[in-house]
Amino acid sequence: MTVAEAVPEIEDLVRSWIEDNWDPNLTLGEWWQRLADSGFAHPMLPTNAGGKGWSQGQHMRAMRAIASADVVGPPPGLGYMLAAPTIAEHGTAEQIERYIPPILNGREAWCQLFSEPVAGSDLAGLQTRATADGDEWLISGQKVWTSQGNYADLGMLIARTDPDLPKHRGLSYFAMPMLQDGVDVRPLREMTGRTFFSEVFMDNARVGSHALIGQRGDGWRIANTTLAVERASIGGGSAGFAMAVPGSRADQFDRRVGDIVERSKKKKGGGYAPGVGSKLFERYRQLAQRLGRTADPVLRQEMIVLYSLLQVNRLNIHRGRERSQRTGGEGNIAKLMDSEINRQFRDVSLRIIGADGMLAARSSQTDPTIAEVVLNAQGPPIYGGTDQIQRNILGERVLGLPKEPGPEKNTPFSQLPRNV
Ligand SMILES: Cc1cc2nc3c(=O)[nH]c(=O)nc-3n(C[C@H](O)[C@H](O)[C@H](O)COP(=O)(O)OP(=O)(O)OC[C@H]3O[C@@H](n4cnc5c(N)ncnc54)[C@H](O)[C@@H]3O)c2cc1C
Repeated sequence: MTVAEAVPEIEDLVRSWIEDNWDPNLTLGEWWQRLADSGFAHPMLPTNAGGKGWSQGQHMRAMRAIASADVVGPPPGLGYMLAAPTIAEHGTAEQIERYIPPILNGREAWCQLFSEPVAGSDLAGLQTRATADGDEWLISGQKVWTSQGNYADLGMLIARTDPDLPKHRGLSYFAMPMLQDGVDVRPLREMTGRTFFSEVFMDNARVGSHALIGQRGDGWRIANTTLAVERASIGGGSAGFAMAVPGSRADQFDRRVGDIVERSKKKKGGGYAPGVGSKLFERYRQLAQRLGRTADPVLRQEMIVLYSLLQVNRLNIHRGRERSQRTGGEGNIAKLMDSEINRQFRDVSLRIIGADGMLAARSSQTDPTIAEVVLNAQGPPIYGGTDQIQRNILGERVLGLPKEPGPEKNTPFSQLPRNV
């Protein structure tokens, strides 16, 4: 049994810490700092990186305990979700010390600079170049789909450092400062009405050599850590606590935390993409009852499909947490389940409100979450690697099926056919 497994009652620990530390009159900056100092902000991180070395299951229990205590949760976003675990695993002691504390106290927000216009599924085919220039790297190229790029202080960047090596071997991973002349972030508006992602143009942007994470040429391996964490986090769902936007650009540190909690309670039920889980299922079941729709046999069947998907996903996540039962594909399966659950929520919700679905704009009278669920459902099958790519990974890496045909593995990137 590990020390982490021997933790007595996680919920009790968290609750008693909150009792001693929560004060609605604290500023957000003060509260996030307390949470970071306690190790409860991100308990799954190792102790040398500000965490408690807990398992994912223990981490989620702590997050649910925070959520149920009606306090502001740790700083959300891609720094917390992806950069911190990646740097904790691959960074030097100096890098851990430089990058992780400002993630945990919310002072710095991050984005993920992976996808490019011609490199999404074929991520290793990316073309952004990093060229050594004395003690720095010069970065030129374009990224796209950069979630929260317009709030980020830093970006997890993968760039090509050696075009004459095979494509997976010529990549390196950097922590790139976003607030500099060579970086131009252009926000894109989605059909949801929000501006969640941006395109990012880099023209001789500068990154110090100290910001190279891992070795030169090791970028693909490190990016795979980020991607694995991403899949598992997307499929694992969220605890659902009151949140605020981290980072120097959002600059929300002087807000009173009590106000953030109150505002989040008022917002519950509309205005933002709601968590697609059992709470939302129960809400739609009640809506179907209220609208007299529960006798419709097709709707009943679709709701049972949705309920079953939620249960199967829950069990798959449990299996992923038990080392002895893992197959290695749980993260990919959870990611696929998340896509399916989002689609099924979309279809069920439209079936409940029937013809009103044609008018289901933001002003939907029946339930304000429906328009959000319907419009948002197109994203999950794409982000974090599409459904098809998850199936390819399961086939090749878990089931051991032959790889897709393609150019010989050791072909230098510079000699591969280009899709330009
Ligand atoms: C809401 C949202 C947020 C995102 N946020 C980020 C972010 O913060 N940072 C970031 O770097 N990226 C982000 N992405 C990008 C995302 O990772 C890519 O969109 C995704 O990897 C697909 O790449 P692509 O869009 O280039 O599509 P393509 O790779 O061009 O794929 C097009 C279609 O072809 C299929 N296809 C491609 N190759 C194969 C194959 N070998 N076998 C079978 N089918 C295949 C795909 O499944 C897809 O249906 C985000 C995407 C979305 C929707």
